[in-house]
Amino acid sequence: MEIYLDYNATAPLMPAARAAVVAGLDLLNASSVHGPGRAARAAVTAARNITAEYMSVRPAQIVFTSSATEALVTALRGAAVQGYFMSSVEHEAVRATVQPLPNFFVVPTDENGVINLETLSAVLQKSAAPILVAVQFANNETGVIQPIAEAMKICRKYGALLLVDAVQAVGRIDIAPLQGADITVISTHKMGGPKGAAALVLREGLAITPLLTGGGQEERRRAGTENVAAIMGMGAAIEHISDSLNVMLQVARWRDQMEKEILAAAPQIKMFGQNTPRIANTSMMALPGAAASTQLMNLDLAGIAVSSGSACSSGKVGPSHVLSAMGAPPDAASAAIRVSGGWASTAKDFAHFTQVYLDMVKRFA
Ligand code: PLP
Repeated sequence: MEIYLDYNATAPLMPAARAAVVAGLDLLNASSVHGPGRAARAAVTAARNITAEYMSVRPAQIVFTSSATEALVTALRGAAVQGYFMSSVEHEAVRATVQPLPNFFVVPTDENGVINLETLSAVLQKSAAPILVAVQFANNETGVIQPIAEAMKICRKYGALLLVDAVQAVGRIDIAPLQGADITVISTHKMGGPKGAAALVLREGLAITPLLTGGGQEERRRAGTENVAAIMGMGAAIEHISDSLNVMLQVARWRDQMEKEILAAAPQIKMFGQNTPRIANTSMMALPGAAASTQLMNLDLAGIAVSSGSACSSGKVGPSHVLSAMGAPPDAASAAIRVSGGWASTAKDFAHFTQVYLDMVKRFA
């Protein structure tokens, strides 16, 4: 039995998104002025309109990119600021871009992984230079949701730009709190669209220096021929977001039941983020003393695809910076695995995982 519970890495492609991608593969260059070019442009425009409507912005505020990483790096390198504040649980794309910069500050989180807004306020109050603040909407490892509306108020008060990495929020929760954010980044492969398309959403009138220079695509904000097929797939996936949100109501029940059964049978397991709002599809659980990589291998052998939340290079899993930021001791931070469901998940997936996981826990005892 193959079980896929790694939607926070990439969600399976939705049939409608696949159909849109396949149709898009035959389209030509969206910048060409001839008939076939205009047909490709019309397809990109349709996807832009769908994306803009979903984000409650104007189509011109959407800049299509190749990935969320590209969109985040464009925002971080291209915004006219002189300092960077980020939460301690940001994705590696933000951390690795901000850390080499001369003027950055990491805003701590509490033991639930929620950003400390008092610290954010205090450091912004002291800063004379224009600052960009990066706060993700939902964490990719724990699913913990950040108080974006409150962070936005603080940023406004002190004239800072707020960049919200909303990659894991799309298709999982209502994105209304994003309204008014200066810069938002969304991606499509986490919600059932293809890899190869994402969007940088800019507040009206906010100019950024492009990361990729060259042609005049995306109103001179991102050079390079648009990936028409992936962008069409993104539009199709966004059109199905309300279905995904409905599925989340069930996924929440299955996830909660899984966590309850696991904790009842194995109280030594540490579940992260249970005491604070989380996206409904994600569980991060640690089996102290058992390396995450060994657990992943065991589960893989049993036909279950899950991840460790932490960056994984050459098969080596290090301690999670997110869990460390939440104060988890190293033996827990390097022993945590992430279970994440989504639009095609079933009750059986979670029930089967629970059984196999608990069998594994017994073997490690
Ligand atoms: N931000 C978050 C919260 C993510 O989960 C990811 C992907 O895991 C990214 C950014 C980067 O997305 P991509 O790898 O598609 O560029």
